[in-house]
Amino acid sequence: MKIKRLEIAGFKSFADKVVLDFQQGVTGVVGPNGCGKSNIVDAMRWCMGEQSAKNLRGKAMEDIIFAGSDSRKPLGMAEVSLVFSTEDGRAPAKYLEFSEIQLTRRLYRDGESEYLINKTPCRLLDISELFMDTGVGTKAYSIIEQGKIGQILHSRPEERRLLIEEAAGVTKYKTRKQLALKK
Ligand code: ATP
Ligand code: MG
Repeated sequence: MKIKRLEIAGFKSFADKVVLDFQQGVTGVVGPNGCGKSNIVDAMRWCMGEQSAKNLRGKAMEDIIFAGSDSRKPLGMAEVSLVFSTEDGRAPAKYLEFSEIQLTRRLYRDGESEYLINKTPCRLLDISELFMDTGVGTKAYSIIEQGKIGQILHSRPEERRLLIEEAAGVTKYKTRKQLALKK
């Protein structure tokens, strides 16, 4: 699954809608300090279901909504869409009929939030399932932030095992087993 496009509106420093198209090969983002480079990665992480405000460098989840600037009032909603191509055939079977998968997450200042897959409302669980065993997703290894390598090297063997299981493709079955045992 390859990222094709990212659409950001009302998220952190991106007040107006910004659309980033990712071409073949490697994409680099450059710009002066504080211009919003890391906010792009935060937007991806948030859209994929991140639940921790701290992992998004904030105190509360509301902090991800554009908070206003000298010339603009704060906004009431943030929306991020992340579009993946399914051309490599690695998406879960039920999504292979679509040429792309569009994930959308919205958050309103009153705390209401929604997730959508291809414009249809869904549960956070559907999003996590979509990414299980692909290496993408909030607990996987597709985003290697500052300090992550050290964290992996110094983690306990049980923690490191989780990454290996994700790469081996067994996370999905373990999660399903845990859910079944709970029922
Ligand atoms: P560096 O090169 O220092 O890593 P960067 O390009 O990664 O910088 P970011 O951390 O992405 O920069 O962006 C920081 C900017 O985002 C700050 O100016 C901050 O005020 C702004 N910002 C963060 N959250 C919000 C918000 N909710 N509303 C408006 N602006 C925000
Ligand atoms: Mg940065």
